[in-house]
Amino acid sequence: KSGIVIVAVIAVVAVVALVVVFVVQNMPLPQKYKYGIVLDAGSSHTTVFIYEWPAEKDNNTGRAEQKHSCNVKPGISSYAGTPWKAGQSLRECMREAEKNIPKQRHAQTPLYLGATAGMRLLASDEVFRAVSETLQTFPFSYQGARILSGQEEGAFGWVTVNYLDDRLKQGALDLGGASTQISFVSKMFDGSESPGNSVTFRLYGNDYNLYTHSFLCYGKDQALKMALSGPPAIRDPCFHPEYVETKEYSKLYDSPCVSDRKPQGAPAFFQHTGIGNFQQCQDVVRSLFNFSQCKYSQCSLNGVYQPPLQGVFGAFSAYYYIMDFFNLTDTSIPLDTVKERIARFCATPWQQVKQQNPGIKLKYLVGYCFAGTYLLTLLTDGYNFTSETYSNIKFIHKQIKGSDAGWTLGYMLNLTNMIPAEAPNEPPLPYA
Ligand code: AMP
Repeated sequence: KSGIVIVAVIAVVAVVALVVVFVVQNMPLPQKYKYGIVLDAGSSHTTVFIYEWPAEKDNNTGRAEQKHSCNVKPGISSYAGTPWKAGQSLRECMREAEKNIPKQRHAQTPLYLGATAGMRLLASDEVFRAVSETLQTFPFSYQGARILSGQEEGAFGWVTVNYLDDRLKQGALDLGGASTQISFVSKMFDGSESPGNSVTFRLYGNDYNLYTHSFLCYGKDQALKMALSGPPAIRDPCFHPEYVETKEYSKLYDSPCVSDRKPQGAPAFFQHTGIGNFQQCQDVVRSLFNFSQCKYSQCSLNGVYQPPLQGVFGAFSAYYYIMDFFNLTDTSIPLDTVKERIARFCATPWQQVKQQNPGIKLKYLVGYCFAGTYLLTLLTDGYNFTSETYSNIKFIHKQIKGSDAGWTLGYMLNLTNMIPAEAPNEPPLPYA
């Protein structure tokens, strides 16, 4: 009798085990992702970006997307005198990265640090060494720190924008703190007129010959330094009426973009007084651009070759922050209206500007008159956008599914050989 009971128990256990095995086998597997980390060491900030993509699809079809980003302020370039602190400053964001990426993937997750114009200007080997040492203490696969050339910065920004949105090829406009980049494909450009501005990429089944240029010192912070480095006690049209501030000369001339402009025997301090005049501010900005010589068929500024503009442009980083502040990201608003609004803002007394914008950080608020004027003058006088072509610019920040526009994603795709050579299978969406 007991034999029958034992057999029955064994049978029941076997059936239960079979059911369990069947259920487990047919359960959807947890999606397997791979990850990559890129640190963008810009002039004013360092941002840690984490990307993820489906593990089985990393050759072509699965799109890498931004999973998380973490901002370290100030940027590591500001630790020139205290390099060890630069390493420390990254720890918090790197710990976040450890939490955001599953443990079993840590060791195979590549970690890149790319530094851009700010570091090109203020580069310090010790800062780089300190940062590398800190990054190596984390469990990821550290691939080293590099200073990107201006050309790479522009080209990878273009790859990012066009990888995230493959519906229409678009140019990329990037305005940083220390440099600014323009990159686009033009029928009129095959690289022969100016080989130094040419980069070739294969993206989604086509070869692209890209025009790209980076203007070092023409990011908005360094351009402001150049604009300010005129005569002392200036009455500045790019700052609001009633704005008066005592500033240190040594801080103004602390970068290679302006160090040779320092007047002999300058006092330690100067009084910076605003008068808020858009037209005159535009003249100041124009004086930073040299239009007098061009040895090519045509130039943008400073004798730099630029083929005729073509197509739609995604404009990001400070382009977006500035136009977002002015509520002017919609480029169906005519260029003349844009100018009027920025001119009215510049003419508004500083006290009133502060009252009207209580939520905005003062360090940014004080700079929007110059930044808005600079942005418009760069686009029109510099790059030759007109009232007709202005609406071809799209001010963008986050793109599809929340990935930031910028060079980091393009950089990682390139280094991991993930720039897709073929078009994705899904049909293109109508262009929004
Ligand atoms: P980078 O650090 O080179 O990427 O440059 C970004 C630029 O945008 C710097 O000049 C920053 O100061 C500036 N920036 C960042 N956030 C804002 C904001 N909310 N408003 C205006 N400018 C900003």
